[in-house]
Amino acid sequence: MKFGIDAGGTLIKIVKEENGERTFSKYLSTEVETVAELLQQYPDAEVALTGGKATYLQSLIPQDAFQSIEFDATFKGIQTFLEQLNHPLENYIFTNVGTGTSIHHVKGEVQERAGGTGAGGGMIQGLGYLLTGEADYETLTALAAKGDRDDIDLKVKHIYKGDKTPIPGELTAANFGRVLHTKETVQYTDADKLAAAIGAVGETVTTVSIHAAREFGAEYVVYIGSSFLSNELLKKVVMNYTVLRGFKPYFIENGEYSGALGTLKLM
Ligand code: ATP
Ligand code: MG
Repeated sequence: MKFGIDAGGTLIKIVKEENGERTFSKYLSTEVETVAELLQQYPDAEVALTGGKATYLQSLIPQDAFQSIEFDATFKGIQTFLEQLNHPLENYIFTNVGTGTSIHHVKGEVQERAGGTGAGGGMIQGLGYLLTGEADYETLTALAAKGDRDDIDLKVKHIYKGDKTPIPGELTAANFGRVLHTKETVQYTDADKLAAAIGAVGETVTTVSIHAAREFGAEYVVYIGSSFLSNELLKKVVMNYTVLRGFKPYFIENGEYSGALGTLKLM
């Protein structure tokens, strides 16, 4: 039995392989002791770790685990998924929207970090809480799905008011930039505020990603990370914005397990 575990800032992702069968599970990073108890039940299992909390997890478990660098593990996991999906890519960007966002360029067998942004899943949770007082992730994202950010975000077309725009009018000119124009007539709901926060995160992540894609002449941006779970709105923003900016988005099913799968495969 083999375990690949990516212990991240918010979630611990676990891939278990046994008799050629692969299963996925996840825990909150605050439940690291629970994960350690699980591993204590399988002292003979082969364990591979990665992520920011890997060393701490190692201190709690009986196995002498293999450890890999998060970026190498994630790359290996993505390559494994792409192979299995029959969607090999030669020159691409991958963007891991985790607690924070990390952006990487891949050419052939070589991966290098191309940048990042503090806008990511942690910002959705933190800003979401500040705006609405809601700390439960599923409640937050379900609420956001009902929101409308049209009266909150300022688009290019709003500034040009029917005049010919030099860039697509649907592009956001200023996230939250319309509030001072609409505040007298509009009641913003919690759902609207959350939708705008997710919009800001999604557009920031996409903008940084497509800048990297342009720099490296890549056509595809592969998006992974648990931030897309139960958050169709974020996925939609990122997908549409990537297309609007002229690149091809690609989402991998179970992509948030790339680090966990990758460290297992590197072992
Ligand atoms: P990092 O790689 O930055 O150290 P991480 O690996 O923990 O962090 P991910 O697991 O990829 O990051 O994504 C974390 C994000 O996923 C959270 O910030 C949140 O937006 C989202 N998320 C999805 N499901 C949950 C959940 N059940 N509880 C909390 N956050 C969740
Ligand atoms: Mg991570």
